[in-house]
Amino acid sequence: MPVTNKKNIKKSNTIKLKFDTGWSYAPAPESKSSASFNKQYDLFINGEWVNPLSHKYFDTINPANEEKLAEVAEANAADVDRAVKAARNAYEKVWKKMPAKERAKYIFRIARMIQERAREFAIIESMDGGKPIRESRDFDIPTAANHFFYYAGWADKLEYAFPNRNSNSLGVAGQIIPWNFPMLMAAWKIAPALATGNTVVLKPAETTPLTAMKLAEVIRESGLPEGVVNIVSGGGATGAAIVNHPDINKIAFTGSTEVGKLIQRAVAGTNKKVTLELGGKAANIIFEDAPIDQAVEGVINGVYFNQGHVCCAGSRLYVQESVAKELIRKLRDRIETLIVGDPLDKNTDIGAINSRQQLDTIHKYLKIGKDEGYQMYESSCSLPAKGYWCRPTIFTDVAQSARIAQEEIFGPVLAILTFRTDDEVIQKANNTPYGLSAGVWTDKGSKIFNMTKRMRAGVIWANTFNKFDPTSPFGGYKESGYGREGGLHGLLPYVNLSN
Ligand code: ADP
Repeated sequence: MPVTNKKNIKKSNTIKLKFDTGWSYAPAPESKSSASFNKQYDLFINGEWVNPLSHKYFDTINPANEEKLAEVAEANAADVDRAVKAARNAYEKVWKKMPAKERAKYIFRIARMIQERAREFAIIESMDGGKPIRESRDFDIPTAANHFFYYAGWADKLEYAFPNRNSNSLGVAGQIIPWNFPMLMAAWKIAPALATGNTVVLKPAETTPLTAMKLAEVIRESGLPEGVVNIVSGGGATGAAIVNHPDINKIAFTGSTEVGKLIQRAVAGTNKKVTLELGGKAANIIFEDAPIDQAVEGVINGVYFNQGHVCCAGSRLYVQESVAKELIRKLRDRIETLIVGDPLDKNTDIGAINSRQQLDTIHKYLKIGKDEGYQMYESSCSLPAKGYWCRPTIFTDVAQSARIAQEEIFGPVLAILTFRTDDEVIQKANNTPYGLSAGVWTDKGSKIFNMTKRMRAGVIWANTFNKFDPTSPFGGYKESGYGREGGLHGLLPYVNLSN
């Protein structure tokens, strides 16, 4: 039973794990020499780099050592207006008139150029965002290229995507993305918009603008007509200027539920189409007949890789009581073997937390979990002296009502709860304001179907976790937002259908 009365809390409910393998990997750092980026970036508007009318720039740093990497322009409302005008002009004069198969050629070209420069993109992504090179190299960048390939394929086949309907582009899409998958989110947003004949004003997150700047270079070299894609860097005020611009037809946002609600309010009463991909608190459910070792790896992949900076992270683990002891022991052993450190080292499992602010949020939740009396296990790994780091952490015996089980932490922190019956776990899993993703681990196919039918989450993985593909739609229920990105469904938010 969880101990919620502070008087009952054991003196220390924190256990540092110790699991000495007796050996360690030799360092295997990726060379930075193949990645070049400028010391300063302006705004990418109408196919050119232009000085911001705001005259302001801000620093983007490497969260692994707190060193400044570059400074990027901070677009104000006048800069956003310039970008929207360029996008409108390109839409009316060029892009909407261009035959779809010609549009596709540009999108294919961008996909190929990302592939050719994949290594450079991956290194910059890891330097700017803190994620391990293994993730950016093997997942983020290849999947970003795949999204461009996939949607390039749809561009001249929209009549098959929407049979017996005419699909009409919307106009200018304003796209605002977060810092957890900077390049992949840019691809998720830009590729379907272009394929359906829209033009774009995209804003990367303020802590991770560099791969978007490299993408602007690729877009320029691809020969994409000027103004079809415009990239403006900046913070919340820049995002708000995009949302509030009267000449934008569609807003695509990925980020926090809090900002999603602001956007929803701002567009109420306008004609803007909106898709929101917001927070999550994914339930990952392990039944007693599940392949336990495989499930342990799935949990590790779902919560710890990428530092838990994943809106679909399986951060609420429900384990059937009969296997809870075994599973917790295995998980504790496993997190002790995770390598935390240099994001550019190919052996690293958990890189740097994206920003000081995010690290503070994680620490706040660790304290809440401890204060509420849950048992906390953390890896004994040592952390680098500089930069933002967090040890992989597990809380056990967590109550359904605990804040660490209800609220999104966005860090390498897992809350473990137990259950006895299917009905009980369904009720608990659905008892959250979110509904983005979930997982089920069991040997029985029928149980998988029974569970997935009753769970309220946009994506449910079975006997795996955090698997993505450009052909599968992604998106949430309830406070996780609405609209789908990816797959055939991902085209729909960018078109108006008529008969
Ligand atoms: P996170 O918690 O993931 O950082 P945010 O929702 O704060 O999520 O940020 C996601 C994106 O939304 C970032 O690009 C950020 O600059 C932008 N943003 C922040 N505030 C606003 C706002 N009021 N209007 C529009 N965009 C915003």
